[in-house]
Amino acid sequence: MQVMKLLCPSCGVSNEEVRFSGPFCVKCKPVHIDLPKKVEYQRCSRCGRVRLKGNWIEWNEAKVEGDVAAKFKGEFLRATYSLPDQEATFFVGDKREMYPLKMQVPVAILKVICQQCSRQSSGYFEAIIQLRGKPSSIKRFTRLFKKILAKKTFLSKEEEKKEGVDLYVGNSREVVALLSELGMRAQISRKLAGQRQGKRLYRTTFLLRFQ
Ligand SMILES: [Zn+2]
Ligand SMILES: [Zn+2]
Repeated sequence: MQVMKLLCPSCGVSNEEVRFSGPFCVKCKPVHIDLPKKVEYQRCSRCGRVRLKGNWIEWNEAKVEGDVAAKFKGEFLRATYSLPDQEATFFVGDKREMYPLKMQVPVAILKVICQQCSRQSSGYFEAIIQLRGKPSSIKRFTRLFKKILAKKTFLSKEEEKKEGVDLYVGNSREVVALLSELGMRAQISRKLAGQRQGKRLYRTTFLLRFQ
């Protein structure tokens, strides 16, 4: 059987030396890759978190790079992305022979202030947790609530009173979630505190009595 001799139109190598894929050698075979027109992420300059798929998460370079790489489509087996180099690497070819193909892909990290940080700095709060009763329990639960809530939302203010402690919390749903998680029952009262961007703003007070 006679094999026709081919020369790669791009690099000139012959099919006696390397494998061919169509008219090109496997290294030069044109690959089609779709690059997204614009890739940008918002990062909060106050808390350092980044917005990924609609959620604000702790800054994690590898996660952002993975998210960028997942936006590429085309004839490659695998893609990676490096933020510091602003460079994508596509592994093209087939399972027998893979070649890295590097491409510059700019990704912008925009500096913003996230809603949570802007609310916190303006003193915004949706809920007040009032801890009353046994002083040792007040102390213990104040510490516990602060620790848990700091991860989910923010505290605008902590007020020590002679009858107990008031905690001013950014998000009231997080307080509901916290209390139900701990199986605690609070006496709840809600009042209209005005408007914010056309929406009614309610403030909820959660009164907890310890015996
Ligand atoms: Zn070639
Ligand atoms: Zn922030």
